[in-house]
Amino acid sequence: VAAAGEVEPFGYVCRRCNLCCRNQRIQLNPYEVARLARSQGVSASAFRERFTVDGVWLAQTETGACVFLGPGGCTVHADRPLACRLYPLGRHVRDDGRVRFSRLAGEPGSAGAYTGEGTVADYLESQGAGPFTRAADDYFGWWMAASRASAEPGSPPLLSETEANDILDLDAAVERRCAAEGRSAPADLEARRRLHLDILDQRLERRLTLTRSDHHV
Ligand code: SF4
Repeated sequence: VAAAGEVEPFGYVCRRCNLCCRNQRIQLNPYEVARLARSQGVSASAFRERFTVDGVWLAQTETGACVFLGPGGCTVHADRPLACRLYPLGRHVRDDGRVRFSRLAGEPGSAGAYTGEGTVADYLESQGAGPFTRAADDYFGWWMAASRASAEPGSPPLLSETEANDILDLDAAVERRCAAEGRSAPADLEARRRLHLDILDQRLERRLTLTRSDHHV
Protein backbone atom coordinates (compact mmCIF):
# COMPACT_ATOMS: atom_id res chain seq x y z
CA VAL A 1 0.00 0.00 0.00
CA ALA A 2 1.47 3.35 -1.02
CA ALA A 3 2.02 5.84 1.83
CA ALA A 4 0.32 9.23 1.72
CA GLY A 5 1.98 11.31 -0.96
CA GLU A 6 3.30 8.33 -2.90
CA VAL A 7 0.30 8.36 -5.21
CA GLU A 8 1.11 11.92 -6.34
CA PRO A 9 2.38 12.30 -9.92
CA PHE A 10 6.16 12.48 -10.24
CA GLY A 11 8.58 11.54 -12.98
CA TYR A 12 12.12 12.62 -13.78
CA VAL A 13 14.56 11.72 -16.53
CA CYS A 14 18.26 11.97 -15.64
CA ARG A 15 20.49 12.83 -18.60
CA ARG A 16 23.72 12.32 -16.70
CA CYS A 17 24.98 15.88 -16.71
CA ASN A 18 26.22 15.06 -13.16
CA LEU A 19 25.63 18.61 -11.95
CA CYS A 20 23.77 17.22 -8.93
CA CYS A 21 26.94 15.31 -7.90
CA ARG A 22 28.78 18.56 -7.20
CA ASN A 23 28.73 20.87 -4.20
CA GLN A 24 26.19 18.82 -2.27
CA ARG A 25 26.25 18.08 1.44
CA ILE A 26 25.22 14.44 1.67
CA GLN A 27 24.81 13.00 5.15
CA LEU A 28 25.21 9.24 5.50
CA ASN A 29 23.46 7.01 8.01
CA PRO A 30 25.14 3.83 9.35
CA TYR A 31 23.44 1.61 6.73
CA GLU A 32 24.66 3.81 3.89
CA VAL A 33 28.19 3.86 5.33
CA ALA A 34 28.17 0.06 5.61
CA ARG A 35 26.94 -0.38 2.02
CA LEU A 36 29.45 2.04 0.58
CA ALA A 37 32.24 0.50 2.66
CA ARG A 38 31.44 -2.89 1.11
CA SER A 39 31.54 -1.35 -2.35
CA GLN A 40 35.08 -0.17 -1.61
CA GLY A 41 36.16 -3.39 0.11
CA VAL A 42 37.02 -1.63 3.37
CA SER A 43 35.62 -1.60 6.90
CA ALA A 44 33.07 1.03 7.90
CA SER A 45 35.63 2.75 10.10
CA ALA A 46 38.19 2.84 7.26
CA PHE A 47 35.49 4.14 4.94
CA ARG A 48 34.56 6.94 7.32
CA GLU A 49 38.23 7.85 7.63
CA ARG A 50 38.88 7.95 3.88
CA PHE A 51 35.64 8.99 2.24
CA THR A 52 33.78 11.20 4.70
CA VAL A 53 34.12 14.47 6.54
CA ASP A 54 33.59 14.08 10.29
CA GLY A 55 32.53 10.47 9.73
CA VAL A 56 29.09 11.35 8.37
CA TRP A 57 29.37 13.70 5.37
CA LEU A 58 30.29 12.29 1.98
CA ALA A 59 33.64 13.80 1.01
CA GLN A 60 34.25 16.01 -2.02
CA THR A 61 37.30 16.66 -4.13
CA GLU A 62 38.93 20.10 -4.33
CA THR A 63 36.60 20.98 -7.21
CA GLY A 64 33.50 20.25 -5.15
CA ALA A 65 32.74 17.00 -6.99
CA CYS A 66 31.60 14.02 -4.95
CA VAL A 67 34.53 11.74 -4.16
CA PHE A 68 32.73 8.96 -6.09
CA LEU A 69 32.04 10.93 -9.25
CA GLY A 70 34.07 9.45 -12.12
CA PRO A 71 34.35 10.43 -15.80
CA GLY A 72 31.43 8.13 -16.62
CA GLY A 73 29.25 9.20 -13.70
CA CYS A 74 28.70 7.70 -10.28
CA THR A 75 31.18 4.92 -9.53
CA VAL A 76 29.08 3.52 -6.68
CA HIS A 77 25.73 3.59 -8.44
CA ALA A 78 24.41 0.31 -6.99
CA ASP A 79 25.23 1.48 -3.46
CA ARG A 80 24.60 5.22 -3.78
CA PRO A 81 22.96 6.85 -0.74
CA LEU A 82 19.27 7.66 -0.43
CA ALA A 83 19.77 11.37 -1.13
CA CYS A 84 21.23 10.49 -4.55
CA ARG A 85 18.40 8.03 -5.28
CA LEU A 86 15.69 10.56 -4.43
CA TYR A 87 17.08 13.64 -6.11
CA PRO A 88 15.26 15.77 -7.29
CA LEU A 89 12.43 14.36 -5.19
CA GLY A 90 12.35 15.82 -1.68
CA ARG A 91 11.34 13.41 1.10
CA HIS A 92 10.56 15.15 4.38
CA VAL A 93 10.01 13.19 7.62
CA ARG A 94 8.31 14.92 10.53
CA ASP A 95 9.20 14.25 14.16
CA ASP A 96 6.12 12.02 14.44
CA GLY A 97 7.35 9.93 11.49
CA ARG A 98 4.87 11.26 8.92
CA VAL A 99 6.35 11.67 5.45
CA ARG A 100 5.65 14.16 2.72
CA PHE A 101 7.27 14.63 -0.67
CA SER A 102 8.16 17.72 -2.66
CA ARG A 103 9.65 18.54 -6.02
CA LEU A 104 13.08 20.11 -5.56
CA ALA A 105 14.20 22.94 -7.81
CA GLY A 106 17.04 20.96 -9.40
CA GLU A 107 20.45 22.27 -10.37
CA PRO A 108 20.61 25.40 -12.54
CA GLY A 109 21.54 24.29 -16.06
CA SER A 110 20.72 20.65 -15.38
CA ALA A 111 19.99 18.50 -18.44
CA GLY A 112 17.45 16.43 -16.50
CA ALA A 113 13.73 16.88 -17.06
CA TYR A 114 10.58 16.42 -15.02
CA THR A 115 8.05 14.33 -16.90
CA GLY A 116 5.04 14.11 -14.57
CA GLU A 117 4.64 10.53 -15.80
CA GLY A 118 4.15 7.92 -13.10
CA THR A 119 3.87 8.47 -9.38
CA VAL A 120 6.18 9.10 -6.46
CA ALA A 121 5.85 5.38 -5.61
CA ASP A 122 6.94 4.44 -9.14
CA TYR A 123 9.93 6.75 -8.91
CA LEU A 124 10.99 5.36 -5.51
CA GLU A 125 10.70 1.84 -6.90
CA SER A 126 12.74 2.70 -10.00
CA GLN A 127 15.51 4.06 -7.77
CA GLY A 128 15.63 1.01 -5.48
CA ALA A 129 14.89 3.34 -2.57
CA GLY A 130 13.00 0.83 -0.37
CA PRO A 131 15.85 -0.55 1.79
CA PHE A 132 17.27 2.97 2.12
CA THR A 133 14.04 4.65 3.21
CA ARG A 134 13.45 1.87 5.75
CA ALA A 135 16.96 2.29 7.13
CA ALA A 136 16.67 6.09 7.18
CA ASP A 137 13.32 5.95 8.98
CA ASP A 138 14.53 3.38 11.53
CA TYR A 139 17.65 5.37 12.40
CA PHE A 140 15.66 8.60 12.49
CA GLY A 141 13.14 6.96 14.87
CA TRP A 142 15.98 5.80 17.10
CA TRP A 143 17.57 9.24 17.01
CA MET A 144 14.31 10.91 18.05
CA ALA A 145 13.90 8.45 20.93
CA ALA A 146 17.53 9.07 21.98
CA SER A 147 16.96 12.83 21.87
CA ARG A 148 13.88 12.51 24.08
CA ALA A 149 15.84 10.27 26.47
CA SER A 150 18.69 12.74 26.76
CA ALA A 151 16.13 15.45 27.65
CA GLU A 152 14.94 13.43 30.67
CA PRO A 153 15.94 14.89 34.05
CA GLY A 154 19.14 13.31 35.32
CA SER A 155 20.10 11.83 31.95
CA PRO A 156 23.87 11.55 31.51
CA PRO A 157 24.78 14.22 28.95
CA LEU A 158 27.58 12.47 27.08
CA LEU A 159 28.04 9.16 25.34
CA SER A 160 31.23 7.22 25.84
CA GLU A 161 33.53 7.12 22.82
CA THR A 162 32.59 3.49 22.16
CA GLU A 163 28.87 4.27 22.33
CA ALA A 164 29.21 7.20 19.96
CA ASN A 165 31.29 5.12 17.55
CA ASP A 166 28.82 2.22 17.67
CA ILE A 167 25.99 4.51 16.57
CA LEU A 168 27.86 5.36 13.38
CA ASP A 169 29.70 2.10 12.79
CA LEU A 170 27.20 -0.68 12.23
CA ASP A 171 29.90 -3.28 11.55
CA ALA A 172 31.91 -2.58 14.69
CA ALA A 173 28.83 -2.71 16.93
CA VAL A 174 27.52 -5.93 15.37
CA GLU A 175 30.91 -7.68 15.42
CA ARG A 176 31.49 -6.75 19.07
CA ARG A 177 28.02 -7.92 20.14
CA CYS A 178 28.28 -11.25 18.28
CA ALA A 179 31.81 -11.88 19.61
CA ALA A 180 30.57 -11.22 23.16
CA GLU A 181 27.76 -13.73 22.61
CA GLY A 182 30.14 -16.28 21.05
CA ARG A 183 28.33 -16.44 17.71
CA SER A 184 29.05 -15.53 14.13
CA ALA A 185 27.86 -12.15 12.92
CA PRO A 186 25.28 -12.38 10.10
CA ALA A 187 26.76 -11.75 6.66
CA ASP A 188 23.58 -10.25 5.20
CA LEU A 189 23.61 -6.46 5.52
CA GLU A 190 19.88 -6.20 6.15
CA ALA A 191 20.20 -8.65 9.07
CA ARG A 192 23.19 -6.71 10.37
CA ARG A 193 21.23 -3.46 10.15
CA ARG A 194 18.36 -4.92 12.19
CA LEU A 195 20.80 -6.26 14.78
CA HIS A 196 22.51 -2.87 14.92
CA LEU A 197 19.19 -1.17 15.69
CA ASP A 198 18.42 -3.83 18.34
CA ILE A 199 21.78 -3.06 19.96
CA LEU A 200 21.09 0.68 19.92
CA ASP A 201 17.53 0.16 21.24
CA GLN A 202 18.74 -2.06 24.08
CA ARG A 203 21.44 0.41 25.02
CA LEU A 204 18.91 3.25 25.03
CA GLU A 205 16.50 1.22 27.14
CA ARG A 206 19.26 0.47 29.67
CA ARG A 207 20.17 4.13 29.79
CA LEU A 208 16.55 5.13 30.41
CA THR A 209 16.16 2.54 33.14
CA LEU A 210 19.34 3.73 34.86
CA THR A 211 18.37 7.40 34.54
CA ARG A 212 14.91 6.80 35.98
CA SER A 213 16.11 4.62 38.85
CA ASP A 214 18.82 7.18 39.74
CA HIS A 215 16.22 9.92 39.60
CA HIS A 216 13.87 8.12 42.00
CA VAL A 217 16.45 7.23 44.65
S1 SF4 B 1 27.42 8.98 -4.55
FE1 SF4 B 1 27.25 8.90 -6.78
S2 SF4 B 1 25.20 9.79 -7.24
FE2 SF4 B 1 25.76 10.39 -5.14
S3 SF4 B 1 26.71 12.43 -5.33
FE3 SF4 B 1 28.35 10.86 -5.35
S4 SF4 B 1 28.72 10.44 -7.54
FE4 SF4 B 1 26.71 11.47 -7.38
